[in-house]
Amino acid sequence: MNSTHTESLKERKPIIISGPCSAETEEQTLETCLALAKTGRVNMIRAGIWKPRTKPGMFEGIGTKGLPWLKKVKDLTGLPVAVEVATERHVEDCLTFEIDAVWLGARTTVNPFSVQEVADALKGVNIPVMIKNPINPDIELWSGAIERISKAGITNITLVHRGFSSYGNMDYRNVPMWHLPLELKRRRPDIKMICDPSHIGGRRDVLLDISQKAIDLEFDGLMIESHIDPGKAWSDAAQQVTPDRLLELLNAIVWERNSSDAEMMPLEKLRDQINHIDDEIMLLLSRRMNLADKIGLYKKENHMRILQSHRWQQVLDWAITKGESLGLSKDFVLNYYGVIHTESMSRQQRIVE
Ligand code: PEP
Ligand code: MN
Repeated sequence: MNSTHTESLKERKPIIISGPCSAETEEQTLETCLALAKTGRVNMIRAGIWKPRTKPGMFEGIGTKGLPWLKKVKDLTGLPVAVEVATERHVEDCLTFEIDAVWLGARTTVNPFSVQEVADALKGVNIPVMIKNPINPDIELWSGAIERISKAGITNITLVHRGFSSYGNMDYRNVPMWHLPLELKRRRPDIKMICDPSHIGGRRDVLLDISQKAIDLEFDGLMIESHIDPGKAWSDAAQQVTPDRLLELLNAIVWERNSSDAEMMPLEKLRDQINHIDDEIMLLLSRRMNLADKIGLYKKENHMRILQSHRWQQVLDWAITKGESLGLSKDFVLNYYGVIHTESMSRQQRIVE
């Protein structure tokens, strides 16, 4: 490892963005943000003003009324403030209240019409823009949003990795799929990439682990949600931390590896990517077995035989062709599916009996 690389690691100054998921009241916004400023570790304040919620009737954000609270935060702390925008009006309101930076949320990046609307509204105002990954694992959609925002004349773009939505019971609220942000980092080393462990984890207790992983993978910083009284938050209560806890968390992260660690970095990085993929393989295998159990129940109720050889042949034919197209040998695919099939059959056997 040459010394330039080691130096650049040491010189890395992490971007730390924190603030409540949502601005709820003037008091909650000011208390939270003043306490965050006091930690001395936060370089930018975030707060949601308009919240894209999964279902109607959930708290949809305080709206424009909250923008003067953020202006106050900015005046009192001297810190820049950032807000999520999804429409032209959001951008206009933010500019009126001198919001310093804006971000596109995961549910906006996913929609090229919305990204374009925000990009058009930003033409001629070169403020920093953060772009969260789209909710679905589509790196091209994420890149498309970068292109739309750059074409509007925005020169300060930061990407935010917040994980990807998935069906079923997962460890985290959103699957990290670290290989996707890493691929985008590889393609666009000129753009900073930070991690949002709050929305990946969905729970406070996993924030440190996720943050440490991001820093080890050379992300440029973190966006972490903080609330003066997290349990009482009107949105994302389970994942927010108090400003004090945020400081503890930031102190617990190992920001720089010493030079002997740094020499290990390429190997560590590769192993880390393997660990993440293994983690996803395990979750997928467990989901596959759960589905096999459901099929077992169905077969039992309908007095069907467990082994349906026609179906098994179809699965194998598909797997061999798919494997070949991905550079996996037929032997490997047959072995792998053999083990999976044996386990599925014996689980179904137990159910039937
Ligand atoms: C948020 O940052 O509060 C938010 C809504 O995040 P995301 O777009 O990542 O879901
Ligand atoms: Mn949130």
